[in-house]
Amino acid sequence: MKLLATALFIALTASLTGAHHKSSEGKAGHHGMTQTKASQDKLTPNEALQRLKDGNARFVKGMSVNRDYIAQAKTTASGQYPFAIVLGCVDSRVPVEVVFDQGIGDIFTSRVAGNIAPEDVVGSMEFATAAAGSKVILVVGHTACGAVKGAIDNVKLSKLTGLLDQIQPAVKATDLHSGETKSSKHAEYVDRVAHNNVKMTMDRILKDSPVIADMVKSGKVVLAGGMYNLETGKVDFIN
Ligand SMILES: [Zn+2]
Repeated sequence: MKLLATALFIALTASLTGAHHKSSEGKAGHHGMTQTKASQDKLTPNEALQRLKDGNARFVKGMSVNRDYIAQAKTTASGQYPFAIVLGCVDSRVPVEVVFDQGIGDIFTSRVAGNIAPEDVVGSMEFATAAAGSKVILVVGHTACGAVKGAIDNVKLSKLTGLLDQIQPAVKATDLHSGETKSSKHAEYVDRVAHNNVKMTMDRILKDSPVIADMVKSGKVVLAGGMYNLETGKVDFIN
C-alpha cells in the first residue's frame, strides 16, 4: 500500500512538473542559464536563497541579465526545475521575476493581494517544494501596499472583505507610534503592518503545513521573508 502510494506520488509529480529524465540538457548554474534537474539538486537551500538576493542586487544596480526568453521557453518545455517559490502581492509595481532578475523556469511565483497564504497558496508551496524540488519559500511584502492599507482602514467590498480579514492579525499585532493613528495615512505604520504581515504569513505556512514544517526543520527547505521597497527596488530580507 505504501509502495503504491509512493509510485502514485512519483507519477503525479512527473506529470505535474512535466519532468523527463532526459531533459538535463541546457547549461545551468549561470545567470541567464536554464535550471536543470542537476543544477536544482546541487543547490543548497541557502545557495538558492542567495540566488534571489543576488538577483535583486543585479536588478537594483540596473545590471539585470539580458535573457533570450523564447530560447528559455523551448529549453524548459520538457520539464521544469525551479529553485524557489516566491509569494508576492498582485501589485503591478512588484513583478516578482523582474525584481529578482529570474528567467523562465527559474522560480515558481504565487501572487495574491497582500501576499497572504490561504490554503491553496500553501498547497502550491507544498507542490513547489515536496513535489517539484524547490529549496526556498520566500514571502515578499512591499512598502505602501494597497491591501495592507485596506485592512488598516477596514475596507469592505464583496470578496475583498474576506481577503483583507486575513491581514487583520498583522494590523492587531502592530503598535502605533506617537503621532500615529490607525489609518493608512501613516506610511511608516503601513509598512510596519506589512512587515508583520510577512512574518505572520511565514508562521501561518509552518502552522498549516506539517509537510513544509518538516522540510524546514530538516534543512531541506529555507523559509524566508522580505520587504520590497517601491522607491529603491531593493528587497530587505527578514530571517
Ligand atoms: Zn500590495
